[in-house]
Amino acid sequence: MAEVVFDKVQKAFGAMIAVEGFDLKIEDGEFVSLLGPSGCGKTTTLRMLAGLEQPTGGTIRIGERVVNGVPPARRDIAMVFQSYALYPHMTVAQNMAYPLKKRGIGEPERGERVRAAARLLELEALLERKPKQLSGGQQQRVALGRALVREPQVFLLDEPLSNLDAKLRATMRAELIELHGRIGCTMVYVTHDQLEAMTMSTRIAVMNKGALQQFATPSEIYHRPANTFVASFIGTPSMAVLEGTLTQAAGGWRIDSGAFSADLPEGHLSDDAKAGPVSFAIRPEDVSVGQGPRRAKVRLVEPTGHESIVIMDLDGLSLTARVPGDTQLKSGDTVDASIRADRIHVFDAAAGHRLN
Ligand code: ATP
Repeated sequence: MAEVVFDKVQKAFGAMIAVEGFDLKIEDGEFVSLLGPSGCGKTTTLRMLAGLEQPTGGTIRIGERVVNGVPPARRDIAMVFQSYALYPHMTVAQNMAYPLKKRGIGEPERGERVRAAARLLELEALLERKPKQLSGGQQQRVALGRALVREPQVFLLDEPLSNLDAKLRATMRAELIELHGRIGCTMVYVTHDQLEAMTMSTRIAVMNKGALQQFATPSEIYHRPANTFVASFIGTPSMAVLEGTLTQAAGGWRIDSGAFSADLPEGHLSDDAKAGPVSFAIRPEDVSVGQGPRRAKVRLVEPTGHESIVIMDLDGLSLTARVPGDTQLKSGDTVDASIRADRIHVFDAAAGHRLN
């Protein structure tokens, strides 16, 4: 069993608290991404799991074992960094065999494990090359191979794709998903790229300012963000978090914000909801352009190819919508529009937590 458990973990660097009150239970075989903006504490969290930093509070467990104080080499983990850190004078095969040699594992086992990893990562034809004779993606695969030969319980990956160009990143994303499917080992992946987190993870831990904001599946994070931070951080284009007032109307709750108002369907809000100020947000795909009872004024059209992003004023709110890429809309146009009231995300105005 290689579940990973963080229990009330804290990391302070002097007076600076990098991670605080961090609780997370990663199941055996999961692919979990730590996702958040720069400086939110994701690398520090991964480094504590790797044993490269010691927590200043709480405990970390890998499998059955509390690993606080256990040196990195004895944690049964393998880490892949952003810079692949391959030895330039060694061949691919020697690079991959090196961690085994260091551990005193002799031939023929070393050779067997390297060949097995090379087969898995399709590196067999490259085993005699030196790193500088490889592309970025191939080097990344060798770095993965070097981690793989150690047969660790847990793989730790720190932004391993960030040095690759967009096309190669997409290929490597698919390769990592496949690799995880084949070896089924626990993976913890640090990224600030939500596309990577959304496409690869079984669950995502969204962090901000050293604290966990939400730990859930990609779908749940997207469709049911737990608070205003997650709501505004996840999604491209992002959702604006707007201020409004909640009132009890005949059929249920109603949200008002200046000239804008929307009746929320029955059962939309949890029992915690109270009349008064709230925050709310609407995903671009829940705003329809071209038909509907509302009028909107187009401020900006941003073509991205297959779709265009339209920023518009709708009843005094600045909202974003998605339209097909061949749209004729241009700034200054007035259009009919509608929003899906059953998809409005509502949050407590003060604490920011979700109310639906
Ligand atoms: P990025 O995406 O930019 O790498 P991150 O989310 O990985 O950011 P961390 O590197 O974990 O963030 O840093 C969290 C906070 O802790 C930051 O404010 C950082 O400046 C601080 N920090 C990290 N390491 C140290 C250190 N050795 N000494 C002092 N402060 C540190």
